[in-house]
Amino acid sequence: MRRPDARPKASHFIDGAHVEDDRGAPIDVIYPATGETVAKVHAATPEIVNRALESADRARKDWAGLTGTERGRVLRRAADIMRERNLELSGIETIDTGKPLSETLVADATSAADALEYFGGLGGSLTGEHVQLGSDFVYTVREPLGLCVGIGAWNYPTQIAAWKGAPALACGNTMVFKPSETTPLSALKVAEILTEAGAPPGVYNVIQGAGDVGAALVSDPRVAKVSLTGSVPTGRKVYAAAAEGIRNVTMELGGKSPLLIFDDADVEDAVGGAILGNFYSSGQVCSNGTRVFVQKGVKERFLDRLSARLGNAALGDPLDEATTFGPMVSERQLRIVEDYIAKGIAEGARLVAGGERLPRDGFWMPPTVFADVTDGMTIAREEIFGPVLSVLDFDDEDEAVSRANDTPFGLSAGVFTRDLARGHRVIGRLEAGSCWINTYNLSPVEAPFGGSKMSGVGRENSKAAVDHYSQLKSVYVGMGPVEAPF
Ligand code: NDP
Repeated sequence: MRRPDARPKASHFIDGAHVEDDRGAPIDVIYPATGETVAKVHAATPEIVNRALESADRARKDWAGLTGTERGRVLRRAADIMRERNLELSGIETIDTGKPLSETLVADATSAADALEYFGGLGGSLTGEHVQLGSDFVYTVREPLGLCVGIGAWNYPTQIAAWKGAPALACGNTMVFKPSETTPLSALKVAEILTEAGAPPGVYNVIQGAGDVGAALVSDPRVAKVSLTGSVPTGRKVYAAAAEGIRNVTMELGGKSPLLIFDDADVEDAVGGAILGNFYSSGQVCSNGTRVFVQKGVKERFLDRLSARLGNAALGDPLDEATTFGPMVSERQLRIVEDYIAKGIAEGARLVAGGERLPRDGFWMPPTVFADVTDGMTIAREEIFGPVLSVLDFDDEDEAVSRANDTPFGLSAGVFTRDLARGHRVIGRLEAGSCWINTYNLSPVEAPFGGSKMSGVGRENSKAAVDHYSQLKSVYVGMGPVEAPF
C-alpha cells in the first residue's frame, strides 16, 4: 500500500462534527516506522473538554429513549461501514501505531466491527426479569448508566475505541472517548463512522490530549462511568479519581502473564503460541505471555525451534503486506524496552535472540529472547510492553503453578499440554482472567476479556460487558392490602 495521507479533518469530534481549536497544545503524530511527523492535532482545552461533555450529556435522554433494536441498528450499520473501509482504516491504524498492515487488516477495524455487530445484535435483548412473590412481584429494568468516559492506550486505538463504545452505546449510554496522545487518529474514524451510520450528534465524541485531559474527564460530575485501558499506575489514579464521585469503573490494565509449556506439548504449537503471545504487535499487547515456563525435558527443543522460526520474521515497511513484524510505537517505549533488556543482561539472563535496536530510522527492536531467566529478575517481574520473551524452566506442575501465580498481576495465562485433564486442572489453578489452552491471545468479542488481581476490574466484550454499562432498577409491586404495624 502507498502511504496514506492520515491527516485528520480536525483534532476532535464533538456533537456529530469535526471540531478544531488550535489553542490546545500541539501533538505530533509520528509514524513509528520512520520517525517522521505525519500529522498534527491539538490537545483539548478546558473549553473543548466541556463542550464534549455537554454534548454527550445533552444526547443522553433521546438516545436512551430509543428501543434497543433501534440503537443496535446504528451499531450494525457502523460495523458494515467499517468492514467496507477496512483497507483504508487499516492503513490509518498502521500509520498511528506502526503495526504491519498484515496485522491491522485482520485485527483492528475488523475487531472493532465485530464489537459493533455483536453489541448491536444484543441491543434488542437487554431485558430485566420478573420475580413472582406470591401475588406480589418484583421486576427489574435494565437502565443505562449515563455519560461514560473511555480512555485508551496506544496499542489498539481502533479496537479500544470500539470495545468501549459499542457496549456503552448499545446499553443506551453516551460516550466521550480520549485516545492516547501517541495514537490520536484511529478513534476519530470510529466517531465519523458511527455518525455516518446514524448515531445522533453527541452520542459518541472523541477529544485529544494527554493525562491531564483524561483526568479532567474522570473527575467531572456529569460522568457516570469511566473505562480505562492503560497501565497499573494510571489505573490507580483513575480509579481513585472515579471513587471521589462513586463512579462505575472498568479497568483494563497491565500484565506479566505466564505461559506454561509441559513436556508433552506439541512443541511446534507451543512455539507458535509463544510467538503469538510475545511478538504480535511487536510485543505491545497487555495479555502477552511474557513469562514462558518451559518444562525441562522440552526446553532445548523449544529454544531451538523458537530461534529457527524467529528467522522467518519479516521486518520491513509496515505498509507492505509481506511484513510480519513492525517497529515499536515510539522512541519513548523503545527506550523503556532497551532499559529492561540491559537489566536482563546485567542480572544474568542469557540473551539468545535480538536485544539491539536496529540501525535505521524509526523505532525498531527485533524479537528478543532471554533464556535462563529466574523468578526474581526484573524482566520476569515487571511489564516490559515490548518484544521481549523470557524463558524460565521448571520441573513439575505444582512448582510451575505456584511460580506462575507469584505476581501481583492477573490478566492472562496459557497452558500447552496434550493431557486434557492437566490443561483444565492447571488453568483452574492459575490466577488470571483471560486464559488459553493450546493456543494464545485469541480474544473474540464473544469471550469476556479482563484481568484479576492488579490487572483490572470488570470485563470487556461478551454479555458480561452489559453488566458494566448498565444498572438494574428493581421494582416491588404490591398487589394486596398494605400491612403496617400501626
Ligand atoms: P498509560 O497508562 O500510560 O495511559 C493510558 C491512557 O490513560 C492514555 O490515554 C493516557 O493519556 C491516559 N492517562 C494518563 N494519566 C491519566 C490520568 N491521570 N487520568 C486519566 N487518564 C490518564 O498506558 P499506555 O498508553 O502507555 O498503554 C500501555 C499500558 O496499557 C500497558 O500497561 C498495557 O498493559 C495496558 N493495556 C491494557 C490492556 C487491557 O485490556 N488490559 C490492553 C492494552 C494495553 P496519554 O498517554 O495520552 O498521556
